[in-house]
Amino acid sequence: MADPSTSGDVETFAFQAEINQLLSLIINTFYSNKEIFLRELISNSSDALDKIRFQSLTDKSILEGNPELFIRLIPDKENKTLTIVDSGIGMTKSDLINNLGTIARSGTKAFMEALSAGADVSMIGQFGVGFYSAYLVAEKVTVVTKHNDDEQYVWESQAGGSFTVRRDTEGEPLGRGTKMILFLKEDQLEYLEERRIKDLVKKHSEFISYPISLEVIKTVEREVDEEEDEEEEKEEKEGEAEEVSEDKPKEKKKVKEETREWDLLNKQKPIWMRNPDEVTKEEYGAFYKSLTNDWEEHLSCKHFSVEGQLEFKSVLFVPKRAPFDMFDQRKKINNIKLYVRRVFIMDNCEELVPEWLSFVKGIVDSEDLPLNISREMLQQNKILKVIRKNIVKKAIEMFNEISENKDDYTKFYESFGKNIKLGIHEDSQNRSKLAELLRFHSTKSGDEATSLKDYVTRMKENQKVIYYITGESRKAVENSPFIEKLKRKGLEVLFMVDPIDEYAVQQLKEYDGKKLVSVTKEGLEIEEDDEEKKRKEELKSKFEELTRVIKDILADKVEKVVVSDRIVDSPCVLVTGEYGWSANMERIMKAQALRDNSMSSYMSSKKTLEINPENGIVEELRKRSEADKSDKTVKDLVLLLFETALLSSGFSLDEPATFASRIHRMIKLGLMIDEDEEDDGADEDANMPPLEEGVDQGSKMEELD
Ligand code: ADP
Repeated sequence: MADPSTSGDVETFAFQAEINQLLSLIINTFYSNKEIFLRELISNSSDALDKIRFQSLTDKSILEGNPELFIRLIPDKENKTLTIVDSGIGMTKSDLINNLGTIARSGTKAFMEALSAGADVSMIGQFGVGFYSAYLVAEKVTVVTKHNDDEQYVWESQAGGSFTVRRDTEGEPLGRGTKMILFLKEDQLEYLEERRIKDLVKKHSEFISYPISLEVIKTVEREVDEEEDEEEEKEEKEGEAEEVSEDKPKEKKKVKEETREWDLLNKQKPIWMRNPDEVTKEEYGAFYKSLTNDWEEHLSCKHFSVEGQLEFKSVLFVPKRAPFDMFDQRKKINNIKLYVRRVFIMDNCEELVPEWLSFVKGIVDSEDLPLNISREMLQQNKILKVIRKNIVKKAIEMFNEISENKDDYTKFYESFGKNIKLGIHEDSQNRSKLAELLRFHSTKSGDEATSLKDYVTRMKENQKVIYYITGESRKAVENSPFIEKLKRKGLEVLFMVDPIDEYAVQQLKEYDGKKLVSVTKEGLEIEEDDEEKKRKEELKSKFEELTRVIKDILADKVEKVVVSDRIVDSPCVLVTGEYGWSANMERIMKAQALRDNSMSSYMSSKKTLEINPENGIVEELRKRSEADKSDKTVKDLVLLLFETALLSSGFSLDEPATFASRIHRMIKLGLMIDEDEEDDGADEDANMPPLEEGVDQGSKMEELD
């Protein structure tokens, strides 16, 4: 913030750099859609009114300075100004300086980036910088404002890098609230026309819940002599008025008089109070936009009422896409507005929806809550708990409705699939209902993702469980050794490659009575016929000795070594305990900066090496170790195989350098480079256990092939 330079009582401030940039962009770039400025300013007024109304619920005296809550629009053709007045909370001097110019929000930059990426200027409200849209139509803006805690101040700027703030000692006192005077550019005088303003308010601000009135000038003819009550006549149109007067005696003298009146522009009753059958799709769309500042219409909407012991009405919306700052932890959740008997109470009531549903927007209007409910009371409130339960239920119904249309659902799932999974993790009551909404790619799904329900319909006759694999990406799991056998047997495996899948599936455990089984963990059972079983038993006993040898070599690197029946091609894999972390989970946890290390040693310690008895390498190892129990090559190769299995099973290496040295040594063997001739490599290999000496190294490599 620049130091204000003071001249008399007027202080001058420099706009913060990004805001300044934004202002030049707004002023100098050609946008045809300038009309949105009015919506933005009315929306700011409405927010300011919400704030004061909320305060007044617990302390009536707060409204004393200006008891009525209103928004007024005053076009002045003579001075070419459009003024927007509200009796909202107003701004103190420091609010003025901070909010209108010196402190940039995250949205300032984000909005400029969006604009340069082709976004429309009408998106401005979503980025929290709507006020500056005044400069789309105005060359100068004057903000007069009075907050209960401060004197009346005037902010003024023609953009151009700076603004001024001064005490307002001469102006008409507002009592409380804010007056924005826009000095319109010469080519924007259309915004002084009554018709244009009325249409704009209807289009963009119809659902504002405070009265918006427009000052209109009406010309009436008055008869000077007779003092009759002509109120009704005034309302009539000129033509009609003439007709009426024709009937009257002609002697009476008439003069034209101009009167100023307030025309109420938003007369509709709140949309949620209306019968859903009578509300059009367009009206819901307009309501959604006014509620959320979104520039696009919603993806889906649910309008319902609950009656009986408790009464409330609600309209819920799912947006078409996630907001730009959905994952911003600092952002307060303010997506469902709480009303009590038509009075706005608050828009950041955390008790109204669970966190995983924070992307759903809308309103709830309760008949039962007390008007002066405080935040503390809300936390315990039973009525609110019931409302919340119903919102969750209806939201899930709405998601199911979306799923009836494939394209819509794909869009929905891309944007909010993570939220559904979070819901599965957190909401035990609705877990099974939410499971219906899950979609995964699988070994059989092709390009489209599959639901669990569809998976079940494709299950093999004697298949009892649902198989899944977790991992870093679809590519990684598609070619994983863990699914070799399942693929060969035609058993479908779901790919879970979103980090949150690990958490969700831990909680879900089963679907439709069928257990969800990780193919990378212990406890995987694949149905086998008698012949397969017999062969497995034979192989098991044949390789039993080798498993013991390997376990001795690997010592506590692994929990145990067993003969595998899940791999077909690869020599070995590492599986984890059924209830411990998978390799993927270990990866996710390692990536978390603030994780608790004690937990990880407990959860990630149990690995089992499974060897593939039908793999050539394993068979060769068996032969060698049977021939010579202390064969050193066996030891080296086992270590190398173990490290390779770590990688192919999705783990990371604790000592990648040692692994690299082992590989380099193998490469040298392959290239038949003599160890002693290589001085450079000697250091690098210093920690390595030597490969067996005196053997023809070239032929050893061949055996491995
Ligand atoms: P947003 O309204 O999205 O926060 P704006 O750029 O439109 O962003 O407004 C910046 C801030 O200025 C608002 O958050 C509010 O604190 C203040 N403000 C704007 N208009 C008014 C008003 N009519 N009454 C009181 N405060 C206002």
